[in-house]
Amino acid sequence: MTRSRRSFLASGLALPVVASATRSEQAPPAPAKPPSFAKARSSAPELRYKVLGKTGLKVTTVGFGCMITSDGSVVERAADLGITYFDTARGYQTGNNERMVGAALKKKRKEIVLSTKSGAHTKEEALAQLDTSLKELGTDFVDIWYLHAKSKPEEITDGLIEAQQIAKKAGKIRFAGVSTHSGQKELIPFLAKNPNVDVILTQYNFSMEPFMNQVIDDAAKAGKGIVAMKIMAGGFRRPQPGNPVYEKLKRDGAMLAALKWAVRNPNVHTTVPSMTDMDQLDENLRACSQPFGAADEKLLALQLDHIRPIYCRMCGECAGQCRQGLPVADVLRFLTYADGYGQFALGRERFLELDAEHTAVRCTECPVCTVQCPYGVHVAQRLIRAQDLFAC
Ligand code: SF4
Ligand code: SF4
Repeated sequence: MTRSRRSFLASGLALPVVASATRSEQAPPAPAKPPSFAKARSSAPELRYKVLGKTGLKVTTVGFGCMITSDGSVVERAADLGITYFDTARGYQTGNNERMVGAALKKKRKEIVLSTKSGAHTKEEALAQLDTSLKELGTDFVDIWYLHAKSKPEEITDGLIEAQQIAKKAGKIRFAGVSTHSGQKELIPFLAKNPNVDVILTQYNFSMEPFMNQVIDDAAKAGKGIVAMKIMAGGFRRPQPGNPVYEKLKRDGAMLAALKWAVRNPNVHTTVPSMTDMDQLDENLRACSQPFGAADEKLLALQLDHIRPIYCRMCGECAGQCRQGLPVADVLRFLTYADGYGQFALGRERFLELDAEHTAVRCTECPVCTVQCPYGVHVAQRLIRAQDLFAC
């Protein structure tokens, strides 16, 4: 592990614990009536709330990233248990995800914060996508509408910002946001200064560089709501029988430790871990109330070593290095969908959306790989796996 990332991981320990720390954090409001599912459980989860920047929206510190969820009953149960923030996108599961989420949350629409995203490149296309999203979600408005997966300031075009303003005036969205997987060092400070942006949804986890805390702190101080995704640093829940490191990580709860690590940052207002089943939901809810401790820190250091050869942080440092022009970080992200989150179809779907010249590349034909990853990812090996798995 590099010294900087060790210190980033350790820096989490210096943050105040969630239960007592933040001005924006508030005691949970007394529900008008107990959630229906919670009544059937022996102990209801102890939820925590924060205010999502200047939006004023009160959200649970653990939200729900619906991207890979197919089972609507998991979403429904999460809402019954009191989770208030749910995130989807027009593009997830080729549009089917919005439909599932809308159906699952229909009875709770007024009690929850719902966000979706558009990956459109023009104002007209974005507004048309929003209308489709609202129809699929079965609602007249979404609370937050993100411009999806932006990496550079120049991708935040005047046309897209105008689309968000038009949608706001029409009452179709309450707040405007931008989501980002990479390029945060430059992009988040840019977004923090933009008065039209209310919420930033960013990749944020224990594997990242220390600058992330700084840009998030500054953006939160500027009043932006901060939502963290990709908290599990690639997931990698796939069973590896006989691997003692993996078995220890799983047994001791590395994924829960990762979520606790993110939740404890006072400037991260909510998080959107992916959840596909009831066990994951139950585990993640524990992060609301359990403090991050020394055992968690040790576990995350071990997890970081374990995932080093396979986990791409999407830092972008290798951009332009591939002699064949491959978008390396993108392909590695698609592979993570399959290997880390068990979502083969999603990974392949994204891979096949690449330009034909990129899907045709075979790393096995290169005499030497020109891509150097400073974090130790075995780039050529991982890309060969992606090509084996996904290419036609
Ligand atoms: S492969 Fe390495 S250098 Fe390239 S984006 Fe991923 S983490 Fe960064
Ligand atoms: S091995 Fe793959 S990633 Fe490396 S230079 Fe060749 S095509 Fe690019």
